[in-house]
Amino acid sequence: MSQLQPIKGTHDLMFDDVRRHRFVEETAFEIAARYGYGEIVTPVFEATEVFKRTLGDTSDIVTKEMYTFETKGGDSVTLRPEGTAGVARAFISGGLAQQTPLKFFYRGPMFRYERPQKGRQRQFHQIGVELLGVAAPQADIEVIALAAHILKELRLAGTVTLELNSLGDTESRNVYRDVLVKFLSARKDQLSEDSRGRLDRNPLRILDSKDPGDKAAVAGAPSFAEHLNGASRDFFKEVQDGLSALGIAFKVNPALVRGLDYYCHTAFEFTTDALGAQGTVLAGGRYDGLIQMMGGPSTPGIGWAAGVERLAMLLPEIAPAKRPIAVIPIGEDEVRVAQDITARLRQAGFTADIGYGGNMGKRMKRADKIHAAVAVILGSDEVRDGVATVRNLETGDQVRVPQADLIRHLAAYK
Ligand code: ATP
Ligand code: MG
Repeated sequence: MSQLQPIKGTHDLMFDDVRRHRFVEETAFEIAARYGYGEIVTPVFEATEVFKRTLGDTSDIVTKEMYTFETKGGDSVTLRPEGTAGVARAFISGGLAQQTPLKFFYRGPMFRYERPQKGRQRQFHQIGVELLGVAAPQADIEVIALAAHILKELRLAGTVTLELNSLGDTESRNVYRDVLVKFLSARKDQLSEDSRGRLDRNPLRILDSKDPGDKAAVAGAPSFAEHLNGASRDFFKEVQDGLSALGIAFKVNPALVRGLDYYCHTAFEFTTDALGAQGTVLAGGRYDGLIQMMGGPSTPGIGWAAGVERLAMLLPEIAPAKRPIAVIPIGEDEVRVAQDITARLRQAGFTADIGYGGNMGKRMKRADKIHAAVAVILGSDEVRDGVATVRNLETGDQVRVPQADLIRHLAAYK
């Protein structure tokens, strides 16, 4: 029988890996809660249409990266490649339009069929937030401040850089689109086949293309910034001033774009040099047209998502796991008492472990393996006298402690 392997691009997370992931998620969740975000858990799969409509037929995600399949009932469903579409769908199907502003935090696995490499998996995890119903730049400032706060709490403030750009309002984008189409049409032969197709349908998408020919063609293109109208310029200035007032450093990057029609105004990313090619750890932007495009009531929105794997890789050492107490019966006769003491310690909030057999030497080895801080040793003398030998496994010092006093005596190991 051939050995079963994990699917390419997927990973089993164990122990310390999981602790790092949880640390990222829990930190994000707690900080987001301080900003008024409540958690939303949407299904891991949705009708394919949910992603097609939001991500657009021409995006890389929709054209290449989705895990789409037909159910037994004949419906097309897709494993979610990102979180915003599901939240927007929940907002619409739950009829939440009267309850805005609404602030959502989410976390969980995402699925994209792309080439696995460092920092890029086929199943990966994201944390993210969405703020629905606020058109003012104050929302942009708050959402970015929240991201910066989480990264600071993860002790990554010195590792990442905030890049910022504005895509302007609809009017600015329409003007810019025409300029861009004119510019790129003159360089059509440099463009990839995909992008030649996008020239009519969704030219802004070409700006985010990763194709080398597209990148070269786009390199000299006029920038968004030069085509922002007065209102868009004011909006962008307010966002920048707000961030500066909060002491949040940023760099304006005119090449930072989101190529989908419903994106507008603020686009931002936190990037790092510490991860090689996969340098974006958190990306977001304003998407005022999204909810309406999905068939819901016109509702402004802004949000971001961050890759948990990438953040976990960057994390400095996190606090080590709590070291357990090893309870060690010397012979079979002491097992019952040892089990009783272990149970009492666990009830009292200690992390306690008892070996599953073997002699004293084997059990001591086990204590070492689980990195126990202290051993509670029970031999026949101890059991007769109602005491236990408590050995500090760092120093080797040991004392006899009445069993009734153990919980008090061990308090420092809780
Ligand atoms: P990239 O340019 O790296 O492909 P993206 O633009 O596709 O990123 P987004 O859709 O903006 O990424 O997702 C937000 C974040 O999710 C990314 O910044 C990254 O940290 C993480 N991410 C995206 N795709 C993957 C993946 N396949 N594996 C691990 N993390 C990912
Ligand atoms: Mg991608």
